[in-house]
Amino acid sequence: MTKRQQRVILSGARLLILGFFFGSLITLLPKPEIVRAKEVQPKKVARVNSWQAASFPVENFQAYTSGFGYRPSATGASDWEFHGGLDMAAPQGSYIRNWWVGTVIKVGAGDACGSHIVIRSGEWEHTYCHMEGNVETASGRRYFIDRAGGILIAEGQQIPTGARIGRVGMTGRTTGPHLHWGLKYSNNYVDPALVLQAMFTQQKVSNRANSRVRR
Ligand SMILES: [Zn+2]
Repeated sequence: MTKRQQRVILSGARLLILGFFFGSLITLLPKPEIVRAKEVQPKKVARVNSWQAASFPVENFQAYTSGFGYRPSATGASDWEFHGGLDMAAPQGSYIRNWWVGTVIKVGAGDACGSHIVIRSGEWEHTYCHMEGNVETASGRRYFIDRAGGILIAEGQQIPTGARIGRVGMTGRTTGPHLHWGLKYSNNYVDPALVLQAMFTQQKVSNRANSRVRR
């Protein structure tokens, strides 16, 4: 065998291995066509946003029970599913607070997200799932109503930062009381945990600065 022949065989084998590698990668990876998830790094948008005014979205927070991203299917099937938010456990009935001042662009009920509302703040869209309560229509306008919690929110309504917008419930597909909090920027999913981290960092820094001024 000449050197050249050897080289050809070697590169052929490499291609075969590469092909095998990518082939198995494709079968192992979750099907990307299910959700067009394109992540945006919040650091990029953090420059134009100050997180200091933002509100933590739930009262009586207990634990993060499921993170953002791909995870084995909750139904126990062998496939993967995309989890477009962060699950935050809190006792049933705990109040949920609006993360950022904005306009209610949707109230909904009856799907996997359960009773939910979606708020738009500029390029940001924040979704709150599995809440107590239901959706009702009055004079052509849709309302999210949680009577026991004293919550009444209309589609199109302006909501200030930190306002109580609902309560943790178990509507939709859930095995325990928690808030599913979803975030999108320019229509692309963002990991809410990264945004919370950015908020905590900025708020810590500003608290330190304030206490220095007071002293
Ligand atoms: Zn969730």
